[in-house]
Amino acid sequence: MALRLYNSMTRKRETFKPVVSGRVGMYCCGPTVYNYAHIGNLRAYIFEDIVRRVLEINGYNVSHVMNITDVGHLTSDADEGEDKMLKGAKREGKTVWEVAKFYEEEFFKDTKQLNVLRPHTVCRATEHIKEMVELVTKIEKNGYTYEAEGNLYFDTSKFKKYYELAGRAPEEEQTKPRVEEDRAKKNKADFVLWFTRSKFGNQEMQWDSPWGRGFPGWHLECSAMSMKYLGEQFDIHCGGIDHIPIHHTNEIAQSEAATGKHPWVKYWLHNEFLVMDKGKMAKSSGEFLRMKTLLDKGYDPLVYRYFCLGAHYRQQLKFSWEGMDGAANTLNRLREKVLEMKENAAKKEEECAEKEHNYDDEFKETLNDDLNTPKALAITWSVLRDEEISDREKLKLLLEFDKVLGLGMSGWKREKVQLPASVQKLLDEREKARKAKDWAKADELREKIAKAGFAVKDTPEGPKLEKI
Ligand code: AMP
Ligand code: ZN
Repeated sequence: MALRLYNSMTRKRETFKPVVSGRVGMYCCGPTVYNYAHIGNLRAYIFEDIVRRVLEINGYNVSHVMNITDVGHLTSDADEGEDKMLKGAKREGKTVWEVAKFYEEEFFKDTKQLNVLRPHTVCRATEHIKEMVELVTKIEKNGYTYEAEGNLYFDTSKFKKYYELAGRAPEEEQTKPRVEEDRAKKNKADFVLWFTRSKFGNQEMQWDSPWGRGFPGWHLECSAMSMKYLGEQFDIHCGGIDHIPIHHTNEIAQSEAATGKHPWVKYWLHNEFLVMDKGKMAKSSGEFLRMKTLLDKGYDPLVYRYFCLGAHYRQQLKFSWEGMDGAANTLNRLREKVLEMKENAAKKEEECAEKEHNYDDEFKETLNDDLNTPKALAITWSVLRDEEISDREKLKLLLEFDKVLGLGMSGWKREKVQLPASVQKLLDEREKARKAKDWAKADELREKIAKAGFAVKDTPEGPKLEKI
């Protein structure tokens, strides 16, 4: 089955056809590095990782680009509130550059632990000011801008397709801003391309530009950098659904106003939110769960990946500790099964008639049907339960599936159990008893070992211990 993806622009599932045959350009909005990523953000990066991996199993040569926002993002996506980077710097008594570097590193530590593949190109906004200035110059030349109170604005009333992605009625928005909003704007939806009138006293990050010394509006970086690395028209743009009405809408307006080419992006893919019992999880609220919170509670990071894969990306996912415990148990069972299969597969060839199956096709078709990860996990379990196929075949299938699931199955090993000396002594005594065929004593020693917290499993290669 051909790959079909839900395109937020057309609000339909469409058969995926890349701009250039065999290749895919994919751009994903990256983190604003003023704080740690929360687990909601991490859901977005897990989703994007699945998009990339599914493209790859379909044989595409993917070029995955992600930006790092280290300048210009205000606490509201619509040019209001405080500058996020400055807020982080004030909070920590560091420079904005130090803050950016620190949180960028932390971000990649988190995503690595989740087996999220690093994008082929990671580009920082502050290293692409030249490209942004060039883009604004084109937008200005094409007549889409106006200057007011020192800032350069994008005039959304001039861009006819402005509401195409969000699908809102223009009447609501093409009005003068309210008193508490930016009075310099002609239309409520207009946004700043270049700030010179900084609302924030000691803005450290400033650059010269044809419109004066200042800094770029947040949306600009994604237009400028995606086009630099992927060309003026490319295939896929991803992000969370919160980005539809403002950020992505503005990105489209800027990009297409600059190039005059439509569409700038062929497929828009958006993930739904991870929500808490009490609603939205926000970084700016100061209270959020992050990777460390999960690690401190003893979860393997991949439990969170498994938890996310259990829901379709276009469905809201409610976070709960019970849900995490459920995912932890299931992942443990999966791990145990895979380890058993590895051990069995290492033994000499078992002769059994292999049943005809088409699990591999079924798995790929499921993912090709708009990335149905919950069903892909269900197929994984069907394979494991199938008694008519050999462990060797199951293992082969699972390792193939894991190219998308990304649970790191090929690296799963039975951990060497660190035995306390006292337990080792009991184990040696038990081995002696077994050799002497003193089964009663061997059993008695097994009990003692169990009391010390270890279960003995007798295997042809000798006794193995597992923590109870
Ligand atoms: P930000 O660092 O705020 O720009 O967000 C990074 C990514 O996380 C973006 O793609 C957002 O749309 C996405 N995102 C933010 N909050 C959530 C959430 N609670 N659940 C899922 N994705 C989110
Ligand atoms: Zn973006």
